[in-house]
Amino acid sequence: MIGIFGGTFDPVHIGHVRTALDIREDLALDEVRLMPCNISPHRSAPLANGAQRLAMLQAASQGEPGLRVDDRELHRAAPSYTVDTLLSLRAELGSDKPLCLMMGMDSFQALHTWHRWRDIITLAHIIVMARPGWLPPTQGEVADLVSQHGVYDPARLHDASAGCVLLRPVSQLDISASRIRSAVQAGRSARYWVPDGVWEIIQQQGIYGASRHL
Ligand code: ATP
Repeated sequence: MIGIFGGTFDPVHIGHVRTALDIREDLALDEVRLMPCNISPHRSAPLANGAQRLAMLQAASQGEPGLRVDDRELHRAAPSYTVDTLLSLRAELGSDKPLCLMMGMDSFQALHTWHRWRDIITLAHIIVMARPGWLPPTQGEVADLVSQHGVYDPARLHDASAGCVLLRPVSQLDISASRIRSAVQAGRSARYWVPDGVWEIIQQQGIYGASRHL
């Protein structure tokens, strides 16, 4: 069973990698694939380019065999629709293997705005990670999805290759990429919010206007 964790990762931070590892251990996933998007349909263009975001992800996952970087969305010039990514994974892995699409509660709350969002649950399970400041939806289309597809027992994920929504607790790290970008732009350090290798790249390449903090 593999986990797919997509995002802008501008930059990747410990709120991403620690929670990815939590879910991998919690659900005994073979691996979690960190998947940077190319053109996000949901937000303005990232400040770091694709190559920089990829390099930061590689640095963040280095030495952790449970995390792997999958750069397929960076090779697509079109907007990075998750449904297309899942279709491409299904073409590769077949229809039997359970796929777990992972996302934070903030992303899950907005799921009904995603392209062909109702198809996503036919292609993968959805694992929702608690995130500080965000509560599960109580009404609307996404809440209805939880009523129809929600499960409590992780063992259910093995019964089918897609179709379950599972809300899981993870390490609560109140860290966001936007806060990191603002801090670095204001001349502050991002150390301890991001893995050391990521902070090194940010400084070396002057991403977010960083200069050396030595
Ligand atoms: P930004 O602040 O720029 O919006 P972000 O920190 O939310 O960025 P993204 O790359 O947009 O990072 O997020 C990718 C995925 O990671 C999303 O599903 C998001 O919900 C999840 N995520 C990000 N930070 C955390 C965190 N601290 N805890 C749990 N999930 C998180």
